[in-house]
Amino acid sequence: MTRPTQATISSAAMQHNLARARSWAAGARVWAVVKANAYGHGIESALRGFSAADGLALIEFEHAQRLRDAGWRGPVLMLEGAFEPADLDAAAALGLALAVHSEAQLRWLEAWRGAGRIPVHLKLNSGMNRLGFPPAEFRLAHARLSALASVPTVATMAHFADADVRGGAERALQCFLAASRGLAGERSLANSAALIDIPAARCDWVRPGVILYGASPFAGRSAASLGLRPAMTLASRLIGVQRLQAGDTVGYGSTFTAPGPMRIGVVACGYADGYPRHAPNGTPVAVAGVRTRLVGRVAMDMLTVDLTPVPGADIGAEVELWGATVPIDEVAEASGTIGYELMCALAARVRVEAA
Ligand code: PLP
Repeated sequence: MTRPTQATISSAAMQHNLARARSWAAGARVWAVVKANAYGHGIESALRGFSAADGLALIEFEHAQRLRDAGWRGPVLMLEGAFEPADLDAAAALGLALAVHSEAQLRWLEAWRGAGRIPVHLKLNSGMNRLGFPPAEFRLAHARLSALASVPTVATMAHFADADVRGGAERALQCFLAASRGLAGERSLANSAALIDIPAARCDWVRPGVILYGASPFAGRSAASLGLRPAMTLASRLIGVQRLQAGDTVGYGSTFTAPGPMRIGVVACGYADGYPRHAPNGTPVAVAGVRTRLVGRVAMDMLTVDLTPVPGADIGAEVELWGATVPIDEVAEASGTIGYELMCALAARVRVEAA
């Protein structure tokens, strides 16, 4: 028996979202960010959806290898660079560009005597205080990398902490523009939120991720209002129906009490599929295309929904957990998280099909 829980990935939606990203990019080239298994959509799906991207950016070397094996000949940028000196040989062999964000990585490159050459993207710490060279050390790092015969080009990059908050990224933007002013090499800065809202951040390349999958980077601005289409639909079916009377409770912890007679449906999807356990009563869900609400606590393998708006729904009825009828951002917001996390958390046991 096949469990009915399934994620459907639409490459047409991904292509549409990439075109939408280009419409904001004003001529800048687009790195499609495909880290974390293309935000949970599958690295091979990314190739189908983003074959028109100018480059693919990610973190995992195994996935970079799979992109090359699948025939991607375009640029590949490793957003966190080499994790150990041996990665430099792999990068050169696969034709990967590496972010360089630390003195240790810079030294590995200076000491590297392997075959081939490695394009580098020098990362500035523009205020996020995670990865990157501080502004005072940035130009010297750029000069050291530019002096290496093994490094054909030195691009510059930074990453915003607050591009999704209006006005929140101004200091980081000015920091990057000042630090990279006059330096040779292409520049990239904008994630999804900056691409849409901060024209001055577009530079030579942009690096959108989440919008390419059809979710919004902004709280309070829906993906649909940005003209994006959901790439992932998580669906399942009803595997049980219960009739409740007033006062009856549902599921672990008895967190929902029926106010009167009602039908509820049991859906074959739980937190072991990647559905958030913290989704509260009232979180939207669609049964047979009709929006209704979650009732009771999400369990490992199932969750329960109110069938009042769909009186005809019975065992076998289609349930959309997120997708076109229930935006992933709504489920995320109800659960106190972001669409990014839900996409990335899709569990391995969920069957994934290409649409
Ligand atoms: N650039 C870098 C360095 C990132 O780490 C990420 C993702 O976190 C992105 C770009 C894409 O960000 P977003 O998905 O918000 O567009």
